[in-house]
Amino acid sequence: MNIISKIMPSLSGDIESPEALERRYRQFSSSLTCILLALVLIPMFIISVLAHSQYKRMLEEEEVGRLLLNAEQAENTVELFVVKLRSIINFAGHEDRYDELLQPGVLQNLFLRLRNSFPDYTDIEVVGPDGHTAAWEGDYVSKGQSYIGQPWYDETLNKGFYISNIFTGFRGVPHFVVAVSRKLKGGGQWVMRVNIDGKTLQRYVDAVAATSVDDLFLVDQQAILQTTPKKYGERGKPSIFIGGGALNRRLDAEVERHRQAVGGEFLIDRQMTDGKAMLRVIRPVIGTPWRLVMVKEDYRRGAKWINFRNHLFFYLVSCGVLSILIIISISRAITEYIRASDLKRKQFLREAENNDKLASIGRLAAGVAHEINNPLAIINQKAGLMEDYMEMTGDFEYKTELSGALSGIDESVERCKTITHRLLGFARHTDVTEEEIEINKMLKEVTSFVDREASYNQVGINFHFAEHLTPIVSDRGQLQQVFLNILNNAIYAICKDGEINISTRQMDPGHVEVKIADTGCGMNKETLERLFEPFYTTKPTGKGTGLGMSITYGIINKLGGRIKVDSEEGKGTTFTFLLPVRNKEAGKEKTDV
Ligand code: ADP
Ligand code: MG
Repeated sequence: MNIISKIMPSLSGDIESPEALERRYRQFSSSLTCILLALVLIPMFIISVLAHSQYKRMLEEEEVGRLLLNAEQAENTVELFVVKLRSIINFAGHEDRYDELLQPGVLQNLFLRLRNSFPDYTDIEVVGPDGHTAAWEGDYVSKGQSYIGQPWYDETLNKGFYISNIFTGFRGVPHFVVAVSRKLKGGGQWVMRVNIDGKTLQRYVDAVAATSVDDLFLVDQQAILQTTPKKYGERGKPSIFIGGGALNRRLDAEVERHRQAVGGEFLIDRQMTDGKAMLRVIRPVIGTPWRLVMVKEDYRRGAKWINFRNHLFFYLVSCGVLSILIIISISRAITEYIRASDLKRKQFLREAENNDKLASIGRLAAGVAHEINNPLAIINQKAGLMEDYMEMTGDFEYKTELSGALSGIDESVERCKTITHRLLGFARHTDVTEEEIEINKMLKEVTSFVDREASYNQVGINFHFAEHLTPIVSDRGQLQQVFLNILNNAIYAICKDGEINISTRQMDPGHVEVKIADTGCGMNKETLERLFEPFYTTKPTGKGTGLGMSITYGIINKLGGRIKVDSEEGKGTTFTFLLPVRNKEAGKEKTDV
C-alpha cells in the first residue's frame, strides 16, 4: 500500500505545473507497469527455472540409470560367453584325457566337434608337462614350441585358467587365447590351449550394443581397444574414453551399488570428447582381463531435452510478451482513469468556487439594489412632485429646460429601476411557473424576436431540430429570457455577416439538449472565466449591463438544467444547455445562486 501511495501522482496536482503533473502521470504509469511486470514475470521465471532444472535432473537420472543397466546387461552377456568358453574347454580338456588326447585322431576329432558348435575356434593345442606342444590341431600352431617362462603359461599353471587380451600375433589375425591347466596323475601339469578368433567377441559385443547407447566396446588393462567401436576409435589402438578429465563424477547411491557389485574399478562420469559432453561407464568384465566401456551422447543432445527446452522457451517468451502487452495496456488504462478523475475533480472544484463567488456577488448586488430602490423611489416621487408644481406654476425663465431635465431624471430613474429589478430577480429567485413546452417551437418563437436585427446585420439563423423531442415541463417566460439573452449576445458577437446554428436533440429520455453556436468573435480566457459574473461586460458603457449571462446562469440552475460554454477567440462560441424534461429540483428548497 505504501509503495502504491508513493508512486501515485500527487493529489495536490493543482499546485504543480501541467508539465510536472504530466511527468508524474507518466512516472506512475511506468512504475505501475514495472511492479505488475515484476509480479507476473518473476514467478513465471522462477517456475521455469525450477521446471528446467527438475526436468534436467530427471532426464539425467533416467539416462544414468538406463546406462548403468545397459552396461550391467552387456557385461553379463560377455561374462556369460566367457563362462561358456571356459566350461567347454574344461569339458574338452577333462582331467584324465591327457593320454587319450595324444592318441592320433582324437584331438582332431575333438577339434572338429568344437568347431561345429564354435566356428571361431582356430587352433587347439595340448601342452605337455615339459612345456612343449604335445599335440595340436588347427591352422597356425607351430609344433615343438616351448612355452616355459612365457607369462601366459606361468599364469595358466598358477591359476588353472587363463584368458588373454586380443592380439594379432605373427599370424596377422586378431585372436585371443583361453587356456586351462590340468594335473597329471603322476605329477606335473598339462595345459590345453585354445585360440579363438577375435571376431567372436566382436559379435557378442555388437549383439548387446543397445540402440540407446552410442558405443560399446572392450578395452584391455592398457586401454587398448579389444573390439572395434562403432564410432570412437579402432581396434588395437588406445581408446580415448579411458582416462581423461571427467566433467563430473557421479557418486550417488545407485552408482555406489554398482560399484560395490562390480568389485573392480568402476566408473561413471561425463567427459568432453570431440567437444561433446559424453556419458561413459567403465566396468570390468569379471573373469577376463577386459573392461567394458559404454558411451552415450549427453541427454542434452536428445530429442526429449531439445523438445522440452524449445517448448519451455516458446511458452516463456509468448507468455512473457503477452503479459507485457496486457500489463502495459492495463497500466495505461489505470493512469488514464486517474487522470480523467483528477480532471473532473478539478473541474468540480472550480465550478464550486465559481458558484460560491457568484452567490456572494449576487447577494451583494441584491442588497445594493434593495438599498438603492428606496432613494430611487424618493427621487421618482420628488421629480413627479416637481413636475406637478411646474405645471401649476406659470411660465418662467428656463421652464422648458427644467422640464427637459426633469424628464431626463425620470428616464434615468426608470432605467435604474429595470436594473435593480433584474438584479433582484437574479438573486432572489422569483417563483417558477411550470407548463409543458415544446422546445423547438419555443426556440422558433424566441428567434422571431431577433429576426429583424439579425437580417439587418446579415446574420443567418439555421435550425437543426431533432424530431419527436419530449416536451419539457418548465417556466416558459424564464426560458425565453435565457435564449433571448444568448441570441442577443451572439448577434452582437458576430456584428456583421455570420451564422447562428440552433440545434436540439434528445440526450436521454429525461433530458433535452439545446445548442446555440455562433460564428462570432469568441471569448478570451478572462471573459470565459468571468462570463457569469454580474456586471461583467466587454461592451462599451451604455451598450451592456453585464447581467445577461449571470441571470441566464441563475435561471438555468433554478430550472434544474446545466449550461456549458465552448469558445475560441476569433472562431465563435457555442452554448450547450441540458434541460431536464421534468425539474427534479422544483420541489426542493431553493438556495441562492
Ligand atoms: P452583456 O451582454 O451586457 O455584455 P452578458 O452577461 O450578456 O453581458 O455577457 C457578458 C460578456 O460575455 C459580454 O460582454 C461578452 O464579452 C461575452 N459574451 C457573451 N456571449 C458572447 C458570445 N456569444 N460571443 C462572444 N462573447 C460573448
Ligand atoms: Mg447580454
